[in-house]
Amino acid sequence: MSDGSPSTTAIDWTAFTARGAGPGDILLGAGVRHQLADRVHDLLPDRIALLCDATPIPCPEGDLKSWVGDQLTGLGAVVTPVVLAANTPADEAAVERATQGCRDADVVVTVGSGTISDLGKVAATGRPHVIVQTAASVNGYADDESVLLRKGVKRTAPSAYATVLVVDTDIVAMAPVELNRSGLGDMISMFTAPADWYLANQLGMDDHWSAEAALLARDRGQEMLAAARGIGESKPQDLELLQNLLTLSGISMGLARQTSPSSGMEHTVSHMLDMWAGAHDLPHQLHGAQVGVTTLWASLLWQRVVSRLDDGGLPEPRPLASADAERLVRSVFAVMDPSGHSGEECWSDYHRKLVRMQSAGFATRFADFVANWGVHREFLLGRCLADPAAIARALREACAPVRASDLDSGEREPTVWALSNSHLMRNRFNVCDLAFVTGLWNEDVAREVIAEADRLAEGLPA
Ligand SMILES: [Zn+2]
Repeated sequence: MSDGSPSTTAIDWTAFTARGAGPGDILLGAGVRHQLADRVHDLLPDRIALLCDATPIPCPEGDLKSWVGDQLTGLGAVVTPVVLAANTPADEAAVERATQGCRDADVVVTVGSGTISDLGKVAATGRPHVIVQTAASVNGYADDESVLLRKGVKRTAPSAYATVLVVDTDIVAMAPVELNRSGLGDMISMFTAPADWYLANQLGMDDHWSAEAALLARDRGQEMLAAARGIGESKPQDLELLQNLLTLSGISMGLARQTSPSSGMEHTVSHMLDMWAGAHDLPHQLHGAQVGVTTLWASLLWQRVVSRLDDGGLPEPRPLASADAERLVRSVFAVMDPSGHSGEECWSDYHRKLVRMQSAGFATRFADFVANWGVHREFLLGRCLADPAAIARALREACAPVRASDLDSGEREPTVWALSNSHLMRNRFNVCDLAFVTGLWNEDVAREVIAEADRLAEGLPA
């Protein structure tokens, strides 16, 4: 780490894996790739599927996939490469190709970054699965969920933990620097997602809550902000800190049995940007690159909501009537998908959230929340949220995307669409739902938030 304090490398992964909250075994550090063959051998393979995509991946020995292939062949097993197209989205077709390709294997070894690992976790279901992670790009390697595209909509689907997760920091340090900067962006969601989850639980919109899971990675947030510049420069120690945090974050989702510890409003906005890009055949942005920027936006909305609560001026919630909400959701998604499939999918999810927001219980919980704001404020500001300026500074220091134009090249329509409508996409409640039902959220406010974030990105006051 940048400040020379003890590193998080001392994390005892078995304390989590023994609880079934993470991969069966985690090998994390420099040179751990050399334990791969022994670990796969322990799984007694006869037929191994080697799942990867066509992107070349370097390692200290040359080409990583060839090196892994040689290691596996040396075990005497039949090794079948299953090679997907480079940059393939995790859509229905890719799931089918990966699943069919791995069908006859008794052990699946996946080599790649986030999307390939998500596909591997689905394709290997029911069999031993070893993931060789190639970049510190997202937190999804260590969890048992996969982000998949269903009818063009990003959805989190249950999959399975890897039996063994191999994170060799020698390999991660050779990944393209923008992938590791993207991992920083994904982890920066720790400054909004736990707050969203806490809020949802307090307002009766999510029955589950675990402070341990919510804060597992967040409690090391200041270390990560201090290491941002080094992460952006792929400095080994700082990358190792990031990698530890990404793995902790994956485990926190296992402890929670849901993605809420690291997926709140910021992830929903990112998923909306992906949906728009997918529907318009636009280039695919890196997940964490988007999440870093959308976290900055979500943190600015949180700042507005906190300020209204501080003033005692947060209006009573007024959820939409069902018929109005249905019209709104369908029209918002028809802009992107005229077939109506996405609108149908999102309305079915949003409707469940709406019913809860319309209940008398929600109004009561809201009144309690406002009445006890002092207690909630202490937890939210003391343990969960961060100053938006600190988030912007860390992204800037890491040379990660931070301005809206870093995501949309100035084409503001999809960005405003994604930010202003993200609360209509899924069942999970976050700060944007609260802002919407209390009349604090609309397209104009979304534009103001983007403008404020852009000022912070330049190092100016919001
Ligand atoms: Zn993420």
